[in-house]
This record gives sequence, C-alpha cells and structure tokens, in this order.
Amino acid sequence: MRTYDVVVVGGGAAGLFCAITAGKRERSVAVLDHADKLGKKILISGGGRCNFTNRDAGPANYLSSNPHFCKSALARYTPEDFIALVESHGIAYHEKKLGQLFCDDSAKRIVEMLLAECTAAGVEIRCGCRIERVERVEGGTGFRISSSSGEIAAAKVVIATGGLSVPPTGATDFGYRIARQFGLKMVATEPALVPFTLRDGFAELSGVSADAQVTVGATAFRESILFTHVGLSGPAILQISSYWHHGDAVVIDLLPERDLRADIGAAKASGAKMLTSTFLGDLLPRRLVAHWLSPLGDRPLNQLGAPEIASIADAFHAWTVIPAGTEGYRKAEVTRGGVDTTGLSSQTMEARAVSGLHFIGEVVDVTGWLGGYNFQWAWASGHAAGTAV
Ligand SMILES: Cc1cc2nc3c(=O)[nH]c(=O)nc-3n(C[C@H](O)[C@H](O)[C@H](O)COP(=O)(O)OP(=O)(O)OC[C@H]3O[C@@H](n4cnc5c(N)ncnc54)[C@H](O)[C@@H]3O)c2cc1C
Repeated sequence: MRTYDVVVVGGGAAGLFCAITAGKRERSVAVLDHADKLGKKILISGGGRCNFTNRDAGPANYLSSNPHFCKSALARYTPEDFIALVESHGIAYHEKKLGQLFCDDSAKRIVEMLLAECTAAGVEIRCGCRIERVERVEGGTGFRISSSSGEIAAAKVVIATGGLSVPPTGATDFGYRIARQFGLKMVATEPALVPFTLRDGFAELSGVSADAQVTVGATAFRESILFTHVGLSGPAILQISSYWHHGDAVVIDLLPERDLRADIGAAKASGAKMLTSTFLGDLLPRRLVAHWLSPLGDRPLNQLGAPEIASIADAFHAWTVIPAGTEGYRKAEVTRGGVDTTGLSSQTMEARAVSGLHFIGEVVDVTGWLGGYNFQWAWASGHAAGTAV
C-alpha cells in the first residue's frame, strides 16, 4: 500500500494549490482525480482566459451562512500573493474591469503554472483515479483510501472536489457525500452565478443587452443584463442569481443613470413633439424600447399626461420579474451552499470533529461573486489547508 502524508482528492484550483503548498513544506503529497486531465474548469473559465483573481477580493464579496469564515484564509493568502506567482512564471495578464485579472493569452497558462509548481514541489498526480471509499484507519490516526489505483494510506486527507456546476468538467457530489459520511452538516446547495429562465416570452429580445441595476431584497448589482432565448443572463443577472431564492422578485432598473419622470416631464414642458420611442431609443436598444412601449402606447412627449409619464418611468426603472427558475447546474458557474463551515476550522479548513480531514474550495459553503473571487477563494483556502497539513 502506498503511504503519503497528504492525499488531496480533486485536482482543480483548490486541490492543486493545497498540494503545492504542502509539497513545498516537504510533505509527501498525492493528488487523486477521476478526470482524464486536471484543471478542466480552469481551462473553460473566464471565456478561456481565466479570471484568476480580483485585485479587490475581500470577505464582502463572498456568500456563506457564516460570512466571517472566509476572512482568515483570504487575509493570509491575498490577490497580491497570487499575482506575484503569476508574474514569477512570466504569464502576461490584464485587468478587464472592476479589478478582474485575466490571462492575455489563455487559461492554459494557469494550469501549466500549477502543474509546474506541483512538479517542483514533488507532488504526485494520479488522473483517471476513481475513489471508492475513504475510511478512518481503525484504532489509529490517518485514513485508508480505496481507489481504482489501489489502496492508499494517508495521514491527512483534503477534499477539494468542488461543486456541482458544469458536470462535463468532472463535477460530482463526492465531497458532500464524504462530509455526510464523517458527520459534518451541509448547507443546501443551489446553482449560483446562473442565468434566469422567465415564464413570459422575451424570446424576440434574445441578444439584446443593456446596462442595468438589478436588485433582490437589499442586494443590488450594477452591470449589463442580456436577454436570452429563455430568459435573462449577463453579469448583473449572474451576480444577483447567487442571492435569489425561488419566488423572489427581481427588480430591474433599465435606466439607472436617468430619472425618466423628470426627463420626460422636462421634455414635455419644453413642448417636445418627438415620439416617446424616439426619445427612449437614444437611451436604450430600440428593440427593447419597442417591446416595453407596446402595452403603454407610443405618443408624442408633449401629449403625455402625468399618469402616463409615471407608468413609463415605472416600466423602465422598476421592471419587476419573478423568474420561473434558473438554467441549473449545467449553466451555473458555481454552487451556492456546501459543507457547513460551523464544522470546519477557518484557520486550517480541518473538520473540527475529524482530525486530519480538510475541506477546501467550492465544496465548502463559501461562494464568491463573479469576477475572479471564486479562484481567489480556491487559492486562499488551498493555501490555508496546505500550510496546516
Ligand atoms: C464556465 C465557468 C467559468 C468560470 N470562470 C471563473 C473565472 O473566470 N474566475 C473565477 O474566479 N471563477 C470562475 N469559475 C468558478 C471556478 O472555476 C470554481 O469556483 C473553481 O474552479 C473551484 O475550484 P475547486 O478546486 O474547488 O473545484 P474544481 O476546480 O471544480 O475542481 C474539482 C476537481 O475535483 C475533481 N473531482 C470531482 N469529483 C471527483 C471524484 N468523485 N473523484 C475524484 N475527483 C473528483 C474534478 O475532476 C475536478 O478536477 C468558473 C466556473 C465555470 C463553470
């Protein structure tokens, strides 16, 4: 039986980073992954360019039942630390917007960097390895892992099998099953950073996008939205989807920079004869304006009464929809919920009740916003566990 100090199950962002950190500390480390190659999610991330961190990542950019849990790991491994690593490998990158850093060339550079770091740290990688069982060694410390590449013994086991989104990348519920097996609690999982589906057809607007402010409850995001053939997507929608629960209303301000009541009122007062659609067509895509005005009518501005102006303003500033649902794990960038953090140490990611068993990355109930935050959590939580094992 092969014996290691540390076995990491799952060779994605968090698992590889943890393995590198532990390997550099002279631990013997194996990464086991059932996929034929590692880092599949990294390769498809950021449209193939991997938004590998966010310069401004901080605890406020994460959702969790315990918002304090992520603080320690994020403080001990920062975006600057990861940027320094990327730069030390000569990987060119740029900031696209809002602190989001992407590779200039391809996400492949990040996977190559992680694999080179694994080699340098002496990490052994086993792809195509199916894990059948993870058990505590009876009467002792450590774990026995039964896998398609044989029986493996490990003093410490790190579960880094990620969430449920995009199953073709190798996503499974393995981490959640292990958590339950060892008595840890779970926070219910849901697709997050995911497009909405709508009951009412907006199919004819498919492809139209607009800058908008999107609100659910007390949370709002200001970015673009995109009409799809089944509903709504775009950065603002993906962001708010993480805060949305079935039945919640989503309020969308299609003209957050303007005050239509005042603007149309002023145009009317100056006697403007232009059609409402012409006026709004300068501010928003014409297809969208036509769709929105069809139930309200399209009259010259100087003929609009106060109630009509109020209806137009409400229609554009406070479009309220109750999504039918989401496009599900198939289209979700991440999984909200996961292993309940109350059972884990925020310093080491170790299960409080099972010494030597750690959970890192997306499998844990810590979910980042869109924009490089999820990878920063993967690096930071991987680093926290890698420093402790
Ligand atoms: C389309 C898309 C684009 C994204 N873009 C970005 C982005 O640009 N920036 C960003 O910050 N985040 C992005 N994300 C989110 C980010 O990819 C994840 O949050 C991150 O990869 C999580 O890292 P992880 O290591 O926890 O899990 P993963 O990277 O998902 O790795 C899990 C690993 O575990 C393995 N595994 C699963 N089950 C088993 C099992 N039973 N046995 C053995 N191995 C198993 C998998 O094969 C996989 O290699 C994106 C996600 C998607 C789907």
